[in-house]
Amino acid sequence: MFIFDGITCLPEERANITILSNLELVNDSVEEKTDEPPQKKSTGSLTTWYKRLGHVAKATVKKLSKKQMVKGMEIDKHDDKDETHQCSTCLKGKMIRQPIPKVSDIENSRIFHHIYSDICGPMQKTTQDGHGYFMTFIDSHSQYIKVKLLKTKDKAKEKLMALIEHAEVETGKWVNYFRSDGSSKYSSGRFAKYLKSKGIHYEFTNPDTPQENSVAECANRTLVHTTRMMLFESSLPRSFWGYAILYTAHILNRVINRGTSTEKTPYHLYTGFRPSVAHLRSFGCGAQVLLTGVKDKLAPHSV
Ligand SMILES: [Zn+2]
Repeated sequence: MFIFDGITCLPEERANITILSNLELVNDSVEEKTDEPPQKKSTGSLTTWYKRLGHVAKATVKKLSKKQMVKGMEIDKHDDKDETHQCSTCLKGKMIRQPIPKVSDIENSRIFHHIYSDICGPMQKTTQDGHGYFMTFIDSHSQYIKVKLLKTKDKAKEKLMALIEHAEVETGKWVNYFRSDGSSKYSSGRFAKYLKSKGIHYEFTNPDTPQENSVAECANRTLVHTTRMMLFESSLPRSFWGYAILYTAHILNRVINRGTSTEKTPYHLYTGFRPSVAHLRSFGCGAQVLLTGVKDKLAPHSV
């Protein structure tokens, strides 16, 4: 039995990955490749797309399709009878998707003018690979989110340095300001020296006023809400929260966000290209894996 985590295919008992799309799960994050996904277009009802996109509002699904903000999405118009149906998963999960708050025009002026970051955890259950925390990295201009899973909090600085290096090379833009909560974890030592050497200003917020880091706080809430709902809907064990949260970040980057000023997805603003959603499937749905190199003509060619 295999399950589909929305992006990749996992054997049920162990999270080893068989790649089915243009994405690859590498230890603790989803790495995106620039190649087009093998599947150019996918058709589904409005409700199917609603679930694939993490229970985003159906009006948003229609807008993404109508205004061609994403590629590869085809809504089956013959299957819209359930458009007004109240979603039982959302009711049970008490899902309230809050938009990431708008930031000032200066912070929003260009990619990487401001980076927000936060650490969430420990989660009540660790993942199968022993991750108990997750860390967010959000660009204020595009609202593009990167998530890293952490085994311990002290790994955060190392991961952040790698993220900044990778993101700067990926976009060709340079980080101006880094904002996180006011605890001393970033304000001293190797990480502080790293920021200084790169000319990145560090803005730390008061620990008693999380609203000062509202972009990261709000993203954390949305990630956790959506993850809880996906686990609930798929009936998967809680130890799968790592896959669910990485998938949530992946889809949030592909839907429009009221925190951004344009009608472009975070992915589009971040990369300059419209994202494809043809490869997305509902988190936790069943999947079959094609076996390659099977010489026995009568043997099954998929499991
Ligand atoms: Zn729902």
